[in-house]
Amino acid sequence: MSILEQLVAELDAGTVRVVDLTQPLGPDTPVIGLPPIFASSPGVTIEVISQYDEKGPGWYWNTLHLGEHTGTHFDAPVHWITGKDLPDNACDTIPARRFIGPACVIDVTAEVAADPDFLLTRERLLAWEGEHGRIPRNAWVLLRTGWSRRTGASDFLNVGADGPHSPGFHPETSRFLAEEREILGVGVETVGTDAGQAGGFDPPFPNHTLMHGAGKFGLASLRNLDQLPATGAVVIAAPLKIVNGSGSPLRVLALVAG
Ligand code: MN
Repeated sequence: MSILEQLVAELDAGTVRVVDLTQPLGPDTPVIGLPPIFASSPGVTIEVISQYDEKGPGWYWNTLHLGEHTGTHFDAPVHWITGKDLPDNACDTIPARRFIGPACVIDVTAEVAADPDFLLTRERLLAWEGEHGRIPRNAWVLLRTGWSRRTGASDFLNVGADGPHSPGFHPETSRFLAEEREILGVGVETVGTDAGQAGGFDPPFPNHTLMHGAGKFGLASLRNLDQLPATGAVVIAAPLKIVNGSGSPLRVLALVAG
């Protein structure tokens, strides 16, 4: 059998499973908040065009209105000023090969339960590599925090008087992954790939700044990372082919053996 025939056979047999890493997308989808001096992204609205009625007796379809960075979504390098002049930096120009790669899942659920502002340090990442092996080329590095169990918008965004509190990457970890590992990008369970307090870091929003400056991607608002092994899954995360798109909601799928 060819490798693809074997893949199809194992999907049919259930020995390769498809894990859906995507949140439902709808009017209840939480959207990131920014300080009021900046323009903000709208929530999702879905308007019926017709639903088997006088506007279309035999068919149902909707109009969507939403920001590119809504729900489970992809961040392209052009999203950030550091990535604006890179080649192939937008949703329509990134080579499709770069949407598929092995998953490295770093489980910090226990630490985040104790501290919602937990940051993954470079040392902790290197310790993960000591246990599971070096992060391979073209990997998706996924930060498993348990945050997706927070289902209400208020719990999920977790905004206090001093801004949002949610976990993420220490700036040095983002720099290390951007510059010293040939990854596709990082994925998180939170609303964005930077920690809630990262607007006050140096540089501000270091994960966006460094990752996109290095031509790498982000995946936000993932779920079901607890169904993935630390290594061995393959993640497919292909955004809509929006012309000069800075990002896109998408369906993120993981193939898991066994
Ligand atoms: Mn985004």
